[in-house]
Amino acid sequence: MSRTTPACPCGLPATYEDCCGRYHSGASAAPSAEALMRSRYAAFVRRDAPYLLRTWHPDTRPPGIDFADAPRWTGLEIVEAVEGSAFHQRGTVTFRARYRGGELHERSRFSRVGGAWVYVDGDFIE
Ligand SMILES: [Zn+2]
Repeated sequence: MSRTTPACPCGLPATYEDCCGRYHSGASAAPSAEALMRSRYAAFVRRDAPYLLRTWHPDTRPPGIDFADAPRWTGLEIVEAVEGSAFHQRGTVTFRARYRGGELHERSRFSRVGGAWVYVDGDFIE
């Protein structure tokens, strides 16, 4: 990673293009629930509404995403990923997403639609 290329917002030690950028552009699909979770966090940071909507389960997908009151995200930590691999149809990912002035602690559920991982819903954790 060169000094002039910013790291991916999801926190992995890779450039954006080599990491979540591949999924955002549609060049490839996130291979696991955790990879999808990371790419969706990066999409929130970059305010990529089309990617967030197309990786949202059709049953729970909102009509649109308004970033007007969105927090300023500052970091992501994956706490635990259960199932969600190539061998599964479902998975959960527990994470902490920090933003200026606070932190979101959530357990998110993912499943596959047409083979691709999508976000279903999530529970806040105290
Ligand atoms: Zn990434």
